Amino acid sequence: MQDEVEVWRPEGLSRLRRLAIKWFSENGRKLPWRITSDPYAIWVSEIMLQQTQVATVIPFYHRFLESFPDVVSLADASLDDVYRHWAGLGYYRRARQMHQAAKVVQKEHAGVFPTDFQRVHELPGIGRYTAGAILSFSADQRQPIVEANTQRLYARLLHLKQETTSKAGQSHLWTFAELVLPKQKGSGGVNQALMEIGSQVCLPKNPLCMVCPLSDLCPTFKSGSQAKIPVPKRPKDFTDLREIALVIHDAKDRFLMRRCASDERWAGLWDFPRFDVTPCKTEASEAAHVAMQFRERFGKSVLIGQKLHELKHAVTRYRILLKGYEAEIDSSVRAKWKEDVETVWADADELSNLALSSSGKRLWNTVLRNRNDV
Ligand code: SF4
Repeated sequence: MQDEVEVWRPEGLSRLRRLAIKWFSENGRKLPWRITSDPYAIWVSEIMLQQTQVATVIPFYHRFLESFPDVVSLADASLDDVYRHWAGLGYYRRARQMHQAAKVVQKEHAGVFPTDFQRVHELPGIGRYTAGAILSFSADQRQPIVEANTQRLYARLLHLKQETTSKAGQSHLWTFAELVLPKQKGSGGVNQALMEIGSQVCLPKNPLCMVCPLSDLCPTFKSGSQAKIPVPKRPKDFTDLREIALVIHDAKDRFLMRRCASDERWAGLWDFPRFDVTPCKTEASEAAHVAMQFRERFGKSVLIGQKLHELKHAVTRYRILLKGYEAEIDSSVRAKWKEDVETVWADADELSNLALSSSGKRLWNTVLRNRNDV
């Protein structure tokens, strides 16, 4: 395959670079993280941009840098404060790993963001792409990058027959990503330009081939096979789970909230007490199972009330049906309840300021809606 495709040849590669850079200089979006060479700011943008649209990220990026202008200020902040700045972006794991990584930079690199690829790649939450992007954009290092947009663009430029996530597919893509970079300086600009073409022109559906600067070099365009490349991924195998979350509030209108442990989904985030009921066959057995698990976890009895809502959501390979129930505990039990770092009784204002799991937040919104309807 390699010999058939022009962009593998040196003259094809240098033409591709020239065309991409020219197009980018005329059409590239002026994004705030493109006008800085601060690796910390570029790192913040790269992490925020994972799974989040550019337009959503921009205000969060500015606010985050205002509060945490450098890696040391991020390391010194509390995790709850970092979560507060992240609220609305979702996928809190990213914020937690950034906070951990900032602490590593503070402790092991004297608070200076490293410039060696291996050191950057070793930081929590920084994969091969992100490490390459930070160093390529901030210091113009010759680092190949393959992310969603370049992956699709390169697959089409190479007329890649393998799935992009397969071992062989990844090997071709990363080899090409390195080859496409100039030997001397200019790698950062080439990477930016190709990412932008991938994101703005070589769209997943209906790519804009008629205005694409690379169409002369693109075998996928020439063969009209844009809809077939990248080769579609096989569907995921999901595991179905059922869970119950309990909305328990006391006479002072405070809600029992629990911080998820480090080995749980949504580690470090707050959630209503939640229990797995996948093995249960009936709603009655679910209620009994939850009451038993509640006793095991908190050492107290609970009375399950009416169902508030049901929602379906997917997390990694799990498809989860979450049911929210009202529940009560005895007032004498509540009076003796001692809060700790893992469980708190929060009023509505406090609860609205907690970093909640995404499904916990949706349950809380249902509770608020029900209250407003009364
Ligand atoms: Fe993508 Fe079309 Fe450009 Fe090929 S010609 S790189 S398919 S936009």
